[in-house]
This record gives sequence, C-alpha cells and structure tokens, in this order.
Amino acid sequence: MASKKQPHFVIVGGGLSGSLAACYLGSAGYRVDVYELRGDMRAGGIPGGKSINLALSHRGIEGLRRVGLADAVLAHAVPMHGRTMHAVDGSLSLQPYGRDPSQCINSVSRGQLNITLLEAADTYDSVSLHFNEKCTDVDIDGGDVFLEHMKTGETRTVHADIIISADGAFSAVRHAMQRRVGFNYSQNWLEHGFKELVIPAGADGAFAMEKNALHIWPRHSYMMIALPNADGSFTCTLFWPFKGESSFEAIKTEGDLMRFFTKNFPDAVPLMPTLPKDYFENPVGALVTVRSSPWYHEDKVLLLGDAAHAIVPFYGQGINAGFEDVLVMGECMDRFGDDWGRIFEETHRIRKDNVDALADLALHNFIEMRDNTGTRRFLWRKKLERVLHRIFPKWYIPLYSMATFTRMPYTRAISRAKTQDRVVIACAISAVVIGAATVWQWVMR
Ligand SMILES: Cc1cc2nc3c(=O)[nH]c(=O)nc-3n(C[C@H](O)[C@H](O)[C@H](O)COP(=O)(O)OP(=O)(O)OC[C@H]3O[C@@H](n4cnc5c(N)ncnc54)[C@H](O)[C@@H]3O)c2cc1C
Repeated sequence: MASKKQPHFVIVGGGLSGSLAACYLGSAGYRVDVYELRGDMRAGGIPGGKSINLALSHRGIEGLRRVGLADAVLAHAVPMHGRTMHAVDGSLSLQPYGRDPSQCINSVSRGQLNITLLEAADTYDSVSLHFNEKCTDVDIDGGDVFLEHMKTGETRTVHADIIISADGAFSAVRHAMQRRVGFNYSQNWLEHGFKELVIPAGADGAFAMEKNALHIWPRHSYMMIALPNADGSFTCTLFWPFKGESSFEAIKTEGDLMRFFTKNFPDAVPLMPTLPKDYFENPVGALVTVRSSPWYHEDKVLLLGDAAHAIVPFYGQGINAGFEDVLVMGECMDRFGDDWGRIFEETHRIRKDNVDALADLALHNFIEMRDNTGTRRFLWRKKLERVLHRIFPKWYIPLYSMATFTRMPYTRAISRAKTQDRVVIACAISAVVIGAATVWQWVMR
C-alpha cells in the first residue's frame, strides 16, 4: 500500500509564533517553508518592533519546553519576582507575584528569543527559512501564497498543502480569510499609545533599580513600566493617551517633556540621561485588540498567535498565549495524527473562548495597573490574597497566579477566581455577623 503523502507547509511570518511552529513541524519531520517579511535578524541588526523585551511565563515556557528550548531561552532571562510600585513622592512598595521566588515572570529580549527560535528551526533539514519575503495575498482554497521580495520587488507564487498564518496582528492571511462568508473579525484600538524609553546600565553593568522586579509608575489615567534587561539596562514603556491635555500630542518641546517627567516620574528622571533623545526619536506605538473566528479553514489554513488574537499587553500574556496556541496544536497532533482538519478544529475549539477571555482580562488589567496598583485598597487586597493562598494553597489561588503560573484554561481560571472571591466575601460577612451576635449576647447577659 502506498504511504500517504506528507503535506507541505508554508508558514507566513517568521516571528515568535511562526518560528516556534516551524520547530514543532520540523521536529515531526514535515517539509516547511517559512516566509518572513523582515531580513534575517541572525545576520545582525535586531529590528525595532513592538517592544524590546517581553515577560515570559509558564504557558510560554511550556510551549518552548516541548521542543527543548526552554532552558536555552531562560538562560538569558532576568527573573522578576514581583512588582515594584513607584509613588510620586518616590516611595516604593513591592508586591511578590507568587507564593515564593520560584513563581516569577521572566524578562526576555524579543530579538534574542526570535534568534534562538530561528536557529532552532534551521537545525531541521526539512525546514527552510526565507527572509525579505512579504506575503501579499493568499488563495485560501487553492493553497497559493503570493509573495513580493522586499529588496528586489520581484513577485512569485508558492504552493502549499497547508498554510500556517503567524504574520501578526495585521496578518495578510487573515485578511484573505476575512473575505470569506462566515469568517468573523473585529479590531478595537486603545485610546492610549506607547513609547519605549531607556534607563541605561550603571558603571560595570550595574542595575540602577531593583533588578528582579517589574517596575510600575501608576498615575491613574496613564502609567510607565520598566522591565530589566540582561545587560543591566531597563526598557521603560510609557502608556499614555494619544490626544488630550495630558498626552503624547501635548508634548511639543524638550521643556514640555522635562516638566511632565519631573512632576510625574521624579525618581526616574535622574536615571534617564537620554530621555529627550529617546522620547523624540522613538515612535508612538498603537495597541489593538483583534478577535477573529474561526481560526482555520478545513485542513488548509490555521491562524496562530497575534494573527488570530492580538491583545493589549497589560496581562503580559500575548506571546505566552501565542506559544500556548502552538503547544495546543502540538498536543492535537499527538491525538489526531495527520488528520489536519481535526487538529485545526480542535485547536480552535480549545483556544478561542480562552483567548477571548484573556483579551478582556488584559483590557481590565490596564485599568487596574494604572489606577489601582498604587492604592492602599489594592495593596491590602493583594496581601489578603497572598495570606489566603498560603493558608489554603490548593483552594485559594489568585487569578494572576492561575493565569501566569499554570496552564489552567483562562476561562476556568476566571470563573474559579469569581467563586473564590464570593466564598471569601461570604465568610467575611458571616464572621462579622457572628462577631456582632457574640458581642450582643455578651452585652445582654
Ligand atoms: C508594547 C508591547 C509589550 C508587550 N509585552 C508583552 C509581554 O510582556 N509578554 C507577552 O507575552 N506579550 C507581550 N506583548 C505581546 C507580544 O508582543 C505579541 O503577542 C507577540 O509578538 C505575538 O507574536 P506573533 O509571532 O504571533 O506575531 P508578531 O510578533 O507580530 O510576528 C509576526 C511576524 O510576521 C511577519 N510578517 C508580518 N506581516 C507579514 C507578511 N505580510 N508576510 C510575511 N511576514 C509577515 C513580521 O515581520 C513578524 O516577524 C507585548 C506587545 C506590545 C505591543
């Protein structure tokens, strides 16, 4: 009996999700061609992009672990054990992320992570990487991928049995899917944009602030955060409205900038010697939530990562969710062999509602981070969560911990957190009632 012909895969996008998917398919022996818009970052020059560093946590690490890459990536990471809040008066408060230092998130360089993944994908004989190749369109039913070379302008068409779309929030493959009846799509822009700034390393690569923390300057309608880099510097990201009295639009001169920073981030200013240059040279990025469905078409096309579901970055889960998509696809490959229709359908079924819930969580967490993290009420709530988690480690797990340190589906984590909170409130009310009744009885005796 003739053996079944192995499908040929084209992956559009050699970013983080795309190069991890190439490793998964390459390790299973499939023939894969990856077409990436940008040049080969292994040849030098990591391009500017969405963010210089990323917080990588359990779901992302598990996605890397399946193809043996977790340790190589974590070797370059800076662990962050908690959030350090910077008040306007310069006072600091630290909130640990987990119950002990092993529960941390990891600051990794986006460029270094992508290089590690591309190098790993390139070790598989059946995987070929092609750079400076822009996908301009796709024939979903026919399997044709239309490409334009970014340097020569040359156009060509390649054929694939299966197309994996990992070309990010503005995916060309998803765009082709959007023209099909039954494909749903929405995009919502945030009123806030973001700009990256730098706190450089001190002498001998010393960190200018606590190294193993994610730093936050919560200022109600806006905020700045900083993640450590392995070279001793911090990458700061200012999240601020595009327009309005206090906004990117309002800063016209170096004087405007320094007045704003000195008033609102006084402890950061002395650590940012290149602030004016960084501010006026770096672009303002935009933040979008993209939802789409279904993420697949028969056994021909699958959307992964931001191409399927871009989310705002405030839960630090974007690429973790992208890597978990790839991991779930891998787990479905184990279950369904080469039945790609089943694999895609099941990957979508398992992931879709969860990533939608994550998108809402990320939007909500922006309000929490900028408005609440500095308040006493928030600090007490976090303390109470930690105490309850320590006393009842199996029963009470804070939502952040479930999302960040486990692979519990996001929807289940959210409903479990609601139940936990209801029980805690009911216990607190009962304790107050019983206490009041006891005092009343004692007084009446
Ligand atoms: C400011 C900011 C901070 C963030 N911080 C975090 C964080 O701390 N933790 C976290 O988990 N997530 C974070 N994220 C989210 C994370 O960056 C994304 O979820 C992640 O980059 C998605 O990876 P991806 O590979 O799916 O898409 P992308 O990273 O967008 O990669 C898509 C790739 O496809 C290529 N491409 C695009 N179009 C084409 C085309 N037409 N043809 C060929 N190739 C194409 C691109 O060049 C790119 O290489 C952050 C995002 C932002 C904006």
